[in-house]
Amino acid sequence: MKLIILGPPGSGKGTVSERLAKDFHLFHVSVGDLLRKEAKKNTALGKKISSYIDKGDLVPHQMAIDIAKKAIDKKQNFIFDGFPRSVDQAKLIQDVDIDAVIYLDVPEKDVVKRLSGRLLDPVTRKTYHLQYLPPPKNIMKRLIQRKDDTPKVIKERFKVYHQETEPVIKYYQKKGVLKKIDGRGDPAAVYARVKKAVTL
Ligand code: AMP
Repeated sequence: MKLIILGPPGSGKGTVSERLAKDFHLFHVSVGDLLRKEAKKNTALGKKISSYIDKGDLVPHQMAIDIAKKAIDKKQNFIFDGFPRSVDQAKLIQDVDIDAVIYLDVPEKDVVKRLSGRLLDPVTRKTYHLQYLPPPKNIMKRLIQRKDDTPKVIKERFKVYHQETEPVIKYYQKKGVLKKIDGRGDPAAVYARVKKAVTL
């Protein structure tokens, strides 16, 4: 199974992907995670990547494509999380036979609330939320807020989302592979909807 998950920042793509990966034995490819990992290395490439992420802008398309393609290698079962993020990127992976594209539909006011209480575990790279997905108490101390989860950067990420990523939803809708899922509510309820749509 080859899946893509799309949605605005904070819509729950990471959480849903992790669960799908576990239940359907898929390789989880989060280009954002891979970029953050590279950015932490403090190399010339890492610094370049940080300069885009920290502002809320997309890294150059070719860089995203190279990372995504290298990650899947020859794997037959995977989920792309937050990729492709533009129609240009989508066109560049036309040769990959995608079974379904999950679009998590969440109103902007809800995702802004979710982003503000979001915490990242730098060890497992799992995302938690103080209210909606509380972390285990014993890891609380090591959790961090993502640099791009600040109000100014969130605003830019939404701008980029509307301009670059929303057209990708229409692109896959035309291809007949889009599954629009109501992404409101608690993570378990959202996941149940996604799982049902994927198994249909
Ligand atoms: P995410 O973890 O998916 O929210 O991504 C965090 C950041 O990584 C984004 O704001 C972009 O700067 C960068 N990024 C992630 N995926 C892509 C992509 N497909 N194309 C370009 N930049 C990306």
